Amino acid sequence: MRIAVPREKQAGEARVALVPESVKKLVAAGAEVGIEAGAGLHAGFPDAEYQTAGASMMGRADLLPEADILACVNRPEPDDFARLKPSAVVIGFLKPLDEPAALGPIVSRKLTAFAVELVPRTTRAQSMDALSSMATVAGYKAVLLAAARLPRMFPMLMTAAGTVPPAKVLVLGAGVAGLQAIATARRLGAVVEAYDVRAAAGQDVKSLGAKFLEVDLGGIETQDAGGYAKELSPEALQRGRDMVAKRAAVSDVVITTAQVPGRKAPLMLTEEAVNSMRPGSVIVDLAASTGGNVAFTKAGEDVDHNGITILGPLNLPATVPGHASQLYSRNLTSFMALINDKGALKIDMNDDILKGACVAYQGGSVHPKVAAALGLSVA
Ligand code: NAD
Repeated sequence: MRIAVPREKQAGEARVALVPESVKKLVAAGAEVGIEAGAGLHAGFPDAEYQTAGASMMGRADLLPEADILACVNRPEPDDFARLKPSAVVIGFLKPLDEPAALGPIVSRKLTAFAVELVPRTTRAQSMDALSSMATVAGYKAVLLAAARLPRMFPMLMTAAGTVPPAKVLVLGAGVAGLQAIATARRLGAVVEAYDVRAAAGQDVKSLGAKFLEVDLGGIETQDAGGYAKELSPEALQRGRDMVAKRAAVSDVVITTAQVPGRKAPLMLTEEAVNSMRPGSVIVDLAASTGGNVAFTKAGEDVDHNGITILGPLNLPATVPGHASQLYSRNLTSFMALINDKGALKIDMNDDILKGACVAYQGGSVHPKVAAALGLSVA
């Protein structure tokens, strides 16, 4: 079983799919690993460390045709798919729900693909949960960005020149990224409050020393069987927004992380709510890539709205590439253990994790959303 790791081509991407520590484990488990020269450099992993771990360093043109498995961070380009042999396996962030049509070459070339976004969030698959790994990094970094832009300090300080009050941070969405943002802001000494439509998140918020904002949503079901938020009715959304607007007006920093898988992110901070904030306040919108939670967010840009800074970063994990790659690499290594039978590729499509993450199997069994985008009848 040959695993190939290409250098990521996307602008601003500094992560790498496998780090040397994982290569060593995979080689010990019977796999051969080929890494494109320079693939780990910007994440802090030089070629020499990969070679010591047992990988061969290769050029892209030689690497891909040999591969049984292509392990990547971002979805490869169409010309990369064209270099793979039929039945080769692609594993990575393939965006099957957001950009399903881009997976056409996987089907037409009869490849097998697993999207890490679709790995079921079950106890058995916890070590493979790349969404959580990346959300952890993003939540941490969002707070550091906010702290660097805020014209105030985060901790309360008692100095000879008097007392400096702590920053007030509001976190919207208390999933994995939100909880890490809360923990990071608390470590910096801020006073933190948070809101999530899932009442179950309240316990986690409180355990991190933050206040959970309760909203009466009239007893509607807000969480699906997978633990994700459901898309809310306009009325329920509005109730959340009204409360959020009041708290945003007295916050120095707002970090927004509210998302609903496969759908546009809900609007949490309206124009009016942003306008009620003080100049100098900072908003970091982690949902920028799916439409944004904030009225004035521009994806990938920093906006100065009457002195209020609104950041819409698109790929924060890539700005902490060392640890982001290490966590992702461990997730992939756990996942690949499911298809590695003593060094030979073996895919059991009855395995619930493989079935859940599968986008296409040898060109068939195409994920419904991808099939619909490609105009195929669903298998
Ligand atoms: P996500 O990125 O899809 O969304 C982030 C948060 O936004 C979620 O907490 C969601 O409830 C919240 N949200 C969505 N719409 C909202 C709205 N209108 N108002 C306020 N908040 C809103 O979520 P995620 O961080 O990937 O995690 C979602 C859930 O999955 C959580 O319950 C988490 O604990 C659970 N989870 C389980 C496992 C596991 O069991 N292995 C692993 C990771 C996460």
